[in-house]
Amino acid sequence: MFAPKRIRELSYTLENYSPVWGDCIDGKFCDLGDIVLPWGNIDKSLKFIDEVVKGPISAGKKIVGIGGDHLVTLPIVECYAEKYKDLAVVQFDAHTDLRDEWSSEKNSHATVLRRVYEVISKGNKGGKGNLYQFGIRSGSKEEFDFAEKYCHLYKYDVYEPLKSVVGSLKGKNVYLTIDIDVLDPAFAPGTGYIEAGGITSKELFDAVSLLLKETNVVGADVVEVCPPTDNSDRTSAIEAKLVR
Ligand code: MN
Ligand code: MN
Repeated sequence: MFAPKRIRELSYTLENYSPVWGDCIDGKFCDLGDIVLPWGNIDKSLKFIDEVVKGPISAGKKIVGIGGDHLVTLPIVECYAEKYKDLAVVQFDAHTDLRDEWSSEKNSHATVLRRVYEVISKGNKGGKGNLYQFGIRSGSKEEFDFAEKYCHLYKYDVYEPLKSVVGSLKGKNVYLTIDIDVLDPAFAPGTGYIEAGGITSKELFDAVSLLLKETNVVGADVVEVCPPTDNSDRTSAIEAKLVR
């Protein structure tokens, strides 16, 4: 509710030209606006997101979602997984988000990547699936045990481990989900669950550029920005630049 509005406002101060890409973004995107979600109604919220993103995704468009609660990733990935059968999901996050349940809920910010794993692993016969996690430094023992068996989990760092596996993602369609708490709280204090020991904004930008250059990223989201606790707007400003 708060994050997309503040991120848009801060994006107006940014240049249209990117020295990293040597290109301008003018006319190459459109803003679909906010999806107004019904407070507290998780099922309806997921349905509303699905209704908005399904059309553009099946038409081959690239969606960049802005949040908000990490659960918004689930309906977007469901649409992409329908379009691209080989979809790999890359997650930058402090947390595994692999719980099977959280506060008796199957669908929440703490279970979202477990649901995503299930969506992209349909038909998989055991072994490691198509979920790649980087920067992880928090989770229960059960979550880490699950990740070790079924996911590609890399602790603490993002850029260096990504560099070592990006070759195996070549030729695959990739969806990127960035939980802003992958950053150290020094860079991103405006988020729901602060976790010390994170990466720098420079490392995050380098990792995103590497992934975009080396793989076919078909869609992405940046989530968990919380403007009411974001002293000096720095978390929203980083997210605005990331989206840009
Ligand atoms: Mn997180
Ligand atoms: Mn998360």
